[in-house]
This record gives sequence, structure tokens and C-alpha cells, in this order.
Amino acid sequence: MSEDYKKMWESLELDLAAHDELLDILGKGYRDIYSAQKNRPQGMGYFDFVMSEVHGLRIKELMDEKAAGRKVIGSFCVFVPEEIVLAADATLVGLCSGADFAMEEVENYLPRNTCALIKSAFGFKLGKVCPYLELADMIVGENTCDGKKKAYETLNNLVSNLYVMDLPQVKSTEGRNLLKTEYWRFKDAVEELAGIKIDSERLLKGIEIVNNKRKAIHRLSALRKAVPAPVSGLDALLANQVFFYDNPVRFTESVNSICDELEKRIQNREGVFPEKTQRILISGCPMAVPNWKLPWIIETSGGVIVGEESCVGERGTRNLTDNTGSTVEELMEAVIDRYFKVDCAIFTPNPDRLDHIVEMVGDYKPDGVILYGLQFCQPYLMESMPTEKALEEKNIPVLRIDTDYSMEDIGQLKTRVEAFIELIRIGD
Ligand code: SF4
Ligand code: SF4
Repeated sequence: MSEDYKKMWESLELDLAAHDELLDILGKGYRDIYSAQKNRPQGMGYFDFVMSEVHGLRIKELMDEKAAGRKVIGSFCVFVPEEIVLAADATLVGLCSGADFAMEEVENYLPRNTCALIKSAFGFKLGKVCPYLELADMIVGENTCDGKKKAYETLNNLVSNLYVMDLPQVKSTEGRNLLKTEYWRFKDAVEELAGIKIDSERLLKGIEIVNNKRKAIHRLSALRKAVPAPVSGLDALLANQVFFYDNPVRFTESVNSICDELEKRIQNREGVFPEKTQRILISGCPMAVPNWKLPWIIETSGGVIVGEESCVGERGTRNLTDNTGSTVEELMEAVIDRYFKVDCAIFTPNPDRLDHIVEMVGDYKPDGVILYGLQFCQPYLMESMPTEKALEEKNIPVLRIDTDYSMEDIGQLKTRVEAFIELIRIGD
């Protein structure tokens, strides 16, 4: 551990012993899951570096930005518009929530039957192990599912800088009006925090930076349609995860450079797995860092993940923001339109999500779909039943997996995933 980083973590009042423990878990998970893969594109070296410095260099960069007067805003959800944050010369970082930590303490604040994602956010705070949470000038919570909505009431007592955004649950005119009001309120709050008035030029610049980042990910996704798959689902997931906390311009360049490499692989018919590997589409709850359990199981059981219908994946990145407006009002309308299309399961009814899954099945030609739900996540678990039925009616093989962040069910999950992959192989 570099002495400079230690001092930096101390200045953020992290619990150094607990933080070392978290870094050990992260490092071991990364070695066992990522470094053990074969035929990885060379460009993944960049992401390996980012992961190795996730609590080091990246935090130092953010601390330097803060020292230069820029603000850092943390978010838990893809509904927080990065365009507005960048327009105020601030930085948006995702607060990951992908591992269990300090669970005993968490259960003093939240019921046991709360989803692992919400518990993880609390665990990172209570365990004092997340530098991103500690350095953020503003933490944005959003009223999406009931679990999050109520958890933010409690989180508000644990942090001094929580800003809660209300979100619609119905895609109606009233719903859009609510989103509009909330995004304008958020813009005001970000302007006040950053001490910067957002004009059309600034907002346009923010839109372009985020659109470029999304376009790079779209390019990566399109390359995954190739047979054999030129990149593993684990590596693509990593790129989708790093989307949330790397510098956006550098991220865009790095993803584009991997894409250059993948294009050559495709020309040479060079796959990351053999051509006959069963192609899997994952759909459901977000998979924040370091939640790699299910993708790892799939890709060590004869499958390759070719797409993610997920907030850490296509649900979060698929639409661009229209950049043709010339006033702040017009550009804000474009931002609102773009985010109002996100098909999170908190919406009711939510036919767009099923349409999106079916569209992805047409595009990525998976042999089967795995519906991934976190235990106790009502929106996605409830939606998975009609989704499974609708996909089966279209003769698309489906497996429903409900799990959490613990490692206890690995054996059982592996058996189920292997059986599913064998079944679709026979049916091929
Ligand atoms: S699943 Fe819904 S609530 Fe969760 S991050 Fe995605 S959009 Fe936000
Ligand atoms: S939508 Fe589901 S996974 Fe996301 S926070 Fe709510 S309960 Fe957890």
C-alpha cells in the first residue's frame, strides 16, 4: 500500500483495517475471476489497471479535482443525469453497492429482508470503507423502489449531504411532468453546489461527453453480436461497471480502443470462447462492482454472456440525448425525454422492458435468457414471472435466478446454470 494513499484514506476517515479487508476481498475476487480468463483482449489491461487503482489513483484524481474547486456527486441510480452534473463542471461517480460488508451493523438499521444492493450501500457507509462515499460533496438518492425510498430516510441520518430526487412510477404526462420538475430542481441544486450557472453551451458540452461515452459502449455492444464472441461477458460487464466512475473522456477513448482490437478479432474469426459456446443474455437487477458471481458461473459453465438488459448494461446506456436544441430549456427537454425512456421495473405498467428484451434477443441471438433477480427485490422478481412466461411463449429458453451477494449458493447456482446450458445445447 502506498504511503500517500494511506494518508489520503486517513484524511477521508476510512477505517483502515476494514478497508484493507475490503481491498483483499476485491483483489482476490478479481484475480480468481478476471485474471483467470483466457484470450482476453489486450485493451482490457486498461480496465485491469483501473480496477487495481479503484481506491487509489482514481480517488487521488477526484481529491485533486476537489482541491481545484470542482465538486463530486455520488449516485446510486441511472436516473441521475450526468449531463447536468458535467455541465456544472462537477463529476458524477456511481456508488457501487455490489458486495456485502458490515452486515451485522446494517441489520441494526434495515430489515434482514432488504435487497443486497441497498444493504451493501449501508454496509460501505457503516463500515467506513468506501472512499467515493466519503469524498462526495453530494450523495443523490432517488425515490425508485420502496426499499430505496425508505432506506434513504434512514441514510439521511448517517450522512450530512443526501439529496433525494423524486421519480415517477407511471409513464404518463403527469409522470413526465414530475421528472421535469425534479430535473430542474436537481439542476438548481447542482448549480448551487458548484457555484456555476448552467447555460446552453455548458449543457450541450455535458450532453456530448455523455453521448460519446454511450456511443463507445454501443459500439462495444454491437461487436458482441459476432460469432464467435470476441470478448467475454465478464470483460464487457467490467467496461459497463467502470462507465460509472472513470473519467468520462478517458473511458470513451479506452472503450473505443478495445473496439478497434475486437474488430480485428472479428475479421480473423478469433473468439474468446469456441464458436459453439452457448450465447446467454442476462436481464434484471443491476450488477454493481464487485458483483461478478453469476457472470462468472455462466462463463465457467459453457456459456458466454453476449448482452445485459440491466442498468449496468443496455438499460442504462441505450438511448442518446438529443443535442439539437439551442437553449437550456430545449436541451433540458431532451435530457428529460432521454431518461423517461429508461425501463426500470419500478414503472407500472412496464411493457417497454419486455419489448426491449425481445429486441435484444433479436439483435444478439442468444440461445437463452437468464433473468437475474436479487432476493427481496420486489420490482424485478415480480416482473420476472410474466417476463419468463412471455419469453417462453415466444420459444425463448429462460432460467430465473434469484440470489444475493453471498457465496453460499455458488454450488447450487452452478448446477442450475450448467443444466440450463446443457438443455439449450441439446435443443440447438
Ligand atoms: S433498477 Fe431502477 S432503481 Fe435500480 S439503478 Fe436501475 S433505474 Fe435505478
Ligand atoms: S430495484 Fe430491486 S435491486 Fe434495485 S434497490 Fe430496489 S429492491 Fe434493490
